[in-house]
Amino acid sequence: LNRRLAEFGTTIFAEMSALATATGAINLGQGFPDTDGPEEIREAAVRALREGRGNQYPPGPGVPELRTAVTDHQRHRYDLAYDPDTEVLVTAGATEAVAAAMLALVEPGDEVVALEPYYDSYAACVAMAGGTRVPVTLRPDAASGRFVLDLDELRAAVTDRTRLILLNTPHNPTGTVLTREELAAVAALAVERDLLVVTDEVYEHLVFDGAEHLPIAAFPGMRERTVTISSAGKTFAFTGWKVGWLTAPPELTAAVRTAKQYLTYVASGPFQYAVAEALRLPQSYFDTLRADLEGKRDLLADGLAAAGFRVYRPAGTYFVTADISGLGEKDGVAFCRALPERCGVVAIPNAVFYDHPGAGRSLIRFAFCKKEAVLREAADRLARL
Ligand code: PMP
Ligand code: GLN
Repeated sequence: LNRRLAEFGTTIFAEMSALATATGAINLGQGFPDTDGPEEIREAAVRALREGRGNQYPPGPGVPELRTAVTDHQRHRYDLAYDPDTEVLVTAGATEAVAAAMLALVEPGDEVVALEPYYDSYAACVAMAGGTRVPVTLRPDAASGRFVLDLDELRAAVTDRTRLILLNTPHNPTGTVLTREELAAVAALAVERDLLVVTDEVYEHLVFDGAEHLPIAAFPGMRERTVTISSAGKTFAFTGWKVGWLTAPPELTAAVRTAKQYLTYVASGPFQYAVAEALRLPQSYFDTLRADLEGKRDLLADGLAAAGFRVYRPAGTYFVTADISGLGEKDGVAFCRALPERCGVVAIPNAVFYDHPGAGRSLIRFAFCKKEAVLREAADRLARL
């Protein structure tokens, strides 16, 4: 393993899912739904396969049907207009979009400012690009129970070497949905310091309690400097399909496409046609998804609170972060490794998503994109801890 990747071993998701399989524990670790997405969209994939659409290499930027569905989605939801021919790129999941964006846009030695705790692939992708990550820590606010962005800290993190801000909202693992004020401040800073923003919005449709997802590309001065990334995995509950996409101005799209060509060349064909149909599902699909997850969030959050955890009830994503200090525990990594044996549940220690040593040590993350009976059983097991 080369020096750039020396610090990265097996991902925490693979480790914890393997532990779940080995012990038969309920897996609330890795974030994937235990119910597949809509039947009609599965059928759309089967139809594409049968009709021979996408069984051979699709076009590099993605099939036109999906690119147009993406631009329609951005216009209809956020009033953001993109050209499907020059401003969209279909990728092998959001993961590849992040990787290709880092490889295309970061020079060796450039600094990338990212919100900590961050999704684990960010650190590895910045490293593969030869960049240096500069974490800005989201901190729990006692009054609101929300993880907040300290704007002074963000401003202080930007130096002459900063190339871009890697944003993520709704945020994994904290469940924070960045507010209009926070996003406006990030946008103003990006404009002032002439930075690019790569924003991971894979949880854009998973927001609760009437919270609104705001894409930073819609803020003044941002469209021309923003790469917006999303994916079918979360919105349509098909994490195995690995269909993602990005929207960005032509020069940035072309740059990322250059890197993407040599990573996977193209993303999987038949699924692209199915995802194009999924993006056109009626509003009721998105409303039901949201309402269903909101109920599951409450079920798990209430269960965790009853079991003695301090719970940070998320405004978005399908993850809830909990503090184990109230259980007399300190070390989330040790706690999560022991949890399957102790009570038959798997969770993820948030500490692995931080650079600052000791940060997030007592925090762990549970996924609630599971059947209600599964969440109830998990809560019962945790209550017996
Ligand atoms: N970004 C974030 C914040 C995620 O949580 C995930 C996956 N869970 C991804 C990207 C990866 O998405 P995909 O499966 O589409 O590659
Ligand atoms: N994004 C999912 C999570 O945060 C897992 C993705 C993965 O396994 N790499 O749990």
